[in-house]
Amino acid sequence: MSFITENLKNITENIKKHSNSVNRNYNDILLIAVSKTFPVEYIKELYEFGIKNFGENKAQELRKKAEELKDYDIKWHFIGRIQTNKIKYIVPISEYIHSVFREKEIVEIDKIAKKHSKIQKILIEINVSGEETKGGIEPNELNELLKQAEKYENVKVVGLMTMAPYTNDENEIKKVFLGLKELRDKYVKDYPDLRELSMGMSNDYLIAIESGSTMLRIGSLIFGKRNYNIGG
Ligand SMILES: *Cc1c(COP(=O)(O)O)cnc(C)c1O
Repeated sequence: MSFITENLKNITENIKKHSNSVNRNYNDILLIAVSKTFPVEYIKELYEFGIKNFGENKAQELRKKAEELKDYDIKWHFIGRIQTNKIKYIVPISEYIHSVFREKEIVEIDKIAKKHSKIQKILIEINVSGEETKGGIEPNELNELLKQAEKYENVKVVGLMTMAPYTNDENEIKKVFLGLKELRDKYVKDYPDLRELSMGMSNDYLIAIESGSTMLRIGSLIFGKRNYNIGG
């Protein structure tokens, strides 16, 4: 067994234990293995171990890997910054697009999804922490964007996504995650499809679990340190 499978076993065990200890059902939490910059051999290894959900953040890399792995029943998650001109590559491959926050992206996703006769599941990225370097809309802009998104038949908004602030302060991180949950709980009444909370990465996935996360995006804790000069 290689280090990747070993890491995965540990993380899976931690997710089970922690969800149990905070009275959450382990089955309500999807682990997305963020494979960006790592070779397809790593993905194949996890796939053999039962992991089917993988996350990528670059359209080019996603295309290349999806082509190489076309015989595998993988659900791809696009989690990166969206370039509108790359949406035509992202939509045919992705089960979920996590990082949508502009209406023009929704317009283009709808157009491409129509061409491929699919309903594209998307999440709206929210900049809960308010850090300027982060993508996403402000929480008070969500209402308007959800209203706009309803007009597009081939797009389905299934949840919200956020990134933790750059800090080691667990209380700060938790505040941000709970802020996302509060938004979801508020809007799910009018938008019943809005169920998913995509939050939690290698350093904060336990805090995310106790804050209600339904989708964990974990990379380096599974695959090791990323080297952006290769593969990506
Ligand atoms: C890279 C990335 C992750 C995974 O980060 P790790 O710290 O390696 O777990 C999660 N979400 C997004 C949006 C990313 O770009």
